[in-house]
Amino acid sequence: MKGFDFEEERIKQEIAKLGAKRVLLQMPQGLKPEGPRLAKIIEKTGALPIISADPCYGACDLATCEAESLGIDLIVHFGHAKLVKHDQVPTVYVEARATVKVAEAVEKAVPLLSKYSKIGLATTVQHVQTLDEARELLVRVGKTVMVGDAGRVNYAGQVIGCDYSNVQSVAKGVDAFLFIGGGRFHALGIALNTSKPTIIADPYENRAYSISEEAQKVLKQRYACIEEAEHAKTFGVLLGLKIGQERLEEALKIKGTAEKTGKVAFLFAVREISPEALMEFPSVDAYVNTACPRIALEAPSKFLKPVLTINEFMVVAGETSWEKLLKKGLFEN
Ligand code: SF4
Repeated sequence: MKGFDFEEERIKQEIAKLGAKRVLLQMPQGLKPEGPRLAKIIEKTGALPIISADPCYGACDLATCEAESLGIDLIVHFGHAKLVKHDQVPTVYVEARATVKVAEAVEKAVPLLSKYSKIGLATTVQHVQTLDEARELLVRVGKTVMVGDAGRVNYAGQVIGCDYSNVQSVAKGVDAFLFIGGGRFHALGIALNTSKPTIIADPYENRAYSISEEAQKVLKQRYACIEEAEHAKTFGVLLGLKIGQERLEEALKIKGTAEKTGKVAFLFAVREISPEALMEFPSVDAYVNTACPRIALEAPSKFLKPVLTINEFMVVAGETSWEKLLKKGLFEN
């Protein structure tokens, strides 16, 4: 697969350094076709490669349990920067930095930013190395540029699906955000968590476009979910089993808050949250998801019952208002 740096030499060095005999390869959907090629390279070092075929949506889903049960000496996790602290199994993160040029897509975004003078820049780990170039380009056309550096992610300006601390930390000082990267997922997260106009400069499709209209549509759906959940008598609190999604304390607090307001609440431990899994519990009227906050947001119509983020549940519980939620952001960081 062209266009990404898989750091094959570093992987070989890490295997040699650790004397690893068994190596687990874990990667998100888009990079999985590279699995067999990378396994071949690892096999040549004398180690046994095992490719994880399970879905992997983020570094929150590090396969530590699988590695332990398979006697793995080294996990090589591709496509994400380190997110969770763990010391069970040595892990190498190969961030799969993109080699695609971004300047043209950023130039195409300039007309869409004409109304705004202060721009916040953000991207995923694949493109963090391009932020300086994008900043210079925007400064040349007269913009003031801010790149946030806060929170638990590894790089200034980086966002992940559930952490927008970097953009939130500069949101007050900017008129709009420019997101560099492919797809709508991360840019939508920026718009939903900052309430600022958000433009995407997509270097893969070589185009720029606004995500603001879609964000408004999603906000309407979220408001409808909250209204529906206000009528719920029984809540299910979803407790994620993936290493970086497990929030037992938070789930217990939500159960307590629901019960204080006269509702019934049960905890559900779950690895993959899907409409089918939740359909098994018809007596539950609404769910609060303490695991990945993006699951229900991406496809709310597929879920028969409202599935709320932690912050959204606080509106239902009367602890905050919709207006305050919009200021705070829909996701818990
Ligand atoms: S919790 Fe969800 S959004 Fe956050 S890193 Fe994991 S998969 Fe991505």
